[in-house]
Amino acid sequence: MHYALRKRALVTGGAGFLGSHLCERLLERGDDVLCVDNFFTGTKDNIVHLLNNPHFELIRHDVTFPLYVEVGEIYNLACPASPIHYQHDPVQTTKTSVHGAINMLGLAKRVKAKIFQASTSEVYGDPEIHPQEKTYWGRVNPIGPRACYDEGKRCAEPLFFDYHRQHALRIKVARMFNTYGPRMHPNDGRVVSNFIVQALNNRPITLYGDGSQTRSFCYVSDMVDGFLRLMDSPDDVTGPVNLGNPVEFSVRQLAEQIIELAGSSSDLILQHLPQDDPRQRPPDITLAREQLGWEPAIQLRTGLKATIAYFDALLRERAA
Ligand code: NAD
Ligand code: UDP
Ligand code: UDP
Repeated sequence: MHYALRKRALVTGGAGFLGSHLCERLLERGDDVLCVDNFFTGTKDNIVHLLNNPHFELIRHDVTFPLYVEVGEIYNLACPASPIHYQHDPVQTTKTSVHGAINMLGLAKRVKAKIFQASTSEVYGDPEIHPQEKTYWGRVNPIGPRACYDEGKRCAEPLFFDYHRQHALRIKVARMFNTYGPRMHPNDGRVVSNFIVQALNNRPITLYGDGSQTRSFCYVSDMVDGFLRLMDSPDDVTGPVNLGNPVEFSVRQLAEQIIELAGSSSDLILQHLPQDDPRQRPPDITLAREQLGWEPAIQLRTGLKATIAYFDALLRERAA
């Protein structure tokens, strides 16, 4: 493709789980990709296969500092996403969400780029209504251990909408629900990675509480498809749009399916439920269906098989 016709996208957090899949998809469809990451939770291993691609560039940079580059589209994904990671340095987590958003919005304003924000179902906190519609304003404990992430992401949303209203920025805000797939971190403490690693090692599967709390799990390729559809949607589609898989499973059901698919002999053990752990969290994806024609296509079973295969290879490589 002629250079002038290629779109140039910036992906912050591009060396992370979701970011690396997004970089891959953007390159596959013929965009130039500038990946920006400080490697806090991301790793070069996630993007090493892209480094020889002449249309891919990598910059080590912390988004809490200004960034001056020329791009047409910005996907702002930089932020640790799992509780273990975002609670490691909670002040930095808030800075990443808030200062990172301000810098990327300032950049978008200067170069007139369209900008996508990776927001989260956590803006709803521990909700009183199910499923959560985007009209629900949420119930977040502002001083609890999850607040650095939840409130940081909440604060980024008004920044996006105020830049939109004040500076006519073209914004795209996605509220993502739990997503899983290859390149999740094996030690990030999230339920899918924990259970798969435990099952592959035939160690006990740690159910927090009694395992009756529910989550809905979206496979990464479906999620990235949602990102692209939202970014390519007409300018009046700003979001916030829920993106996630509406099919709900209890954490216990998830454990049982992983044990079966991994052919594991693991038992289930009950452990303490973390503070402020939401009981239930299915997304209402009506808006995504109507405005983006999007809904997840990959069933949990299929996605788990691919994820188990990834972790199996990773654990064998590490053991070798
Ligand atoms: P991840 O930890 O794999 O990726 C985050 C990336 O951001 C990492 O590569 C990390 O090194 C980078 N990063 C962190 N702080 C940075 C900083 N200050 N400057 C530059 N880079 C920085 O997590 P993920 O699951 O891929 O999540 C990506 C985005 O999606 C995050 O914004 C997260 O909040 C959001 N999200 C994820 C989920 C999910 O289920 N995975 C759900 C909702 C929202
Ligand atoms: N910024 C950036 N890259 C740019 C333009 C701006 O990182 O190309 C940062 C800049 O450091 C500023 C922030 O984005 O602090 C917000 O920019 P804006 O123009 O909205 O505000 P101002 O510069 O007036 O503070
Ligand atoms: N969970 C669990 N065992 C684990 C890890 C997590 O039972 O080893 C539970 C956790 O308490 C929560 C759900 O699984 O109810 C999803 O946890 P995760 O950290 O993956 O995501 P989030 O709480 O952010 O949705």
